[in-house]
Amino acid sequence: MVSAEDVHKSFGSNQVLTGVSMQIAAGEVACVIGPSGSGKSTFLRCLNHLEQIDQGRIIVDGSLIGYRERGDKIYELKPSEAAAQRQDIGMVFQRFNLFPHLSALENITCAPRLVHGEGGASASRRAKELLDRVGLADKASSYPSQLSGGQQQRVAIARALAMEPKLMLFDEPTSALDPELVGEVLDVMKELGRSGMTMVVVTHEIGFAREVGDSLYFMDGGQIVESGKPSEMISNPQQERTQAFLSKVL
Ligand code: ADP
Ligand code: MG
Repeated sequence: MVSAEDVHKSFGSNQVLTGVSMQIAAGEVACVIGPSGSGKSTFLRCLNHLEQIDQGRIIVDGSLIGYRERGDKIYELKPSEAAAQRQDIGMVFQRFNLFPHLSALENITCAPRLVHGEGGASASRRAKELLDRVGLADKASSYPSQLSGGQQQRVAIARALAMEPKLMLFDEPTSALDPELVGEVLDVMKELGRSGMTMVVVTHEIGFAREVGDSLYFMDGGQIVESGKPSEMISNPQQERTQAFLSKVL
C-alpha cells in the first residue's frame, strides 16, 4: 500500500530526512517512534505531499505521490492534483483541528459534501454511523468546545474516515491529551487497525505499538535506525540508539 524509497528532505541547510525507506502492506499497522526532532512528522507530511521531497519517491496504492514522471524528468503535481491524491489519505494530528463553529456531525459531513458532492441525508447517515463507531453516537449535535480532548480526537478520526481513505496517518494523536483520555482514543485506533485499515502511527505509546502494531520503526536523526516486529524490537532492540531511546520511554 505504501512504498517510500530513499526519501530525502531538507529545510534550508537542515537535513531532516536523509534516506528514509518504508514498505507497508495493505492492512498493516506501522508504528514509528523516535526522539523529538528526528523527522517523524516531516516523514508523515511527505507521505501525503504536505511537504515536497528532495530525493526518492513515495508510492501509495500504485500512485506516485506529489509528482509525475515523464521520461527521466519529474514534475510536481498541481495543487489541485495533490489535493485529489490527499483525499485518499486520512490524517489525524496531535491537535484535533476540528472546526469550532460546526457540530460533531457537521465536522464529519463537511468534506464528503463539499468534495464528493454527497447529499446531506446520506452524509448525515454515514456520519452517525461513524460517530457510533467511535463511541460518540450521543454527541452528534455537540460543538467541539463541549467535548473533552479525547472526544474531540475521536470526532477527528471519524471525520478522516468519512472520506473513506485507503491509508490513515496519525501524528502523535494522544500526546496532547490528559492521561485518563488516552485509552479511549487508542481503543478507537485499535478497532480501526483490527478492521483492516492500513495505518502509519507516530506514537510514544509503546504499549499500543506492541499490541496493535504489525511493524515498528525507530527513527533518529532523519533515518530509520532499526525496524522489526514490535514485540521483538521492544524486548530486544539491536541498535544502541534504539536501546537508549526505549530505556527512557519504557
Ligand atoms: P519530529 O516529528 O520527529 O519531532 P519533525 O519532523 O517535526 O520531527 O522535525 C524534524 C526537524 O525538521 C526539526 O529540526 C524541525 O525543526 C525541522 N522542521 C520541521 N518542519 C519544518 C519547517 N516547516 N521549516 C523548517 N524546519 C522544519
Ligand atoms: Mg512530530
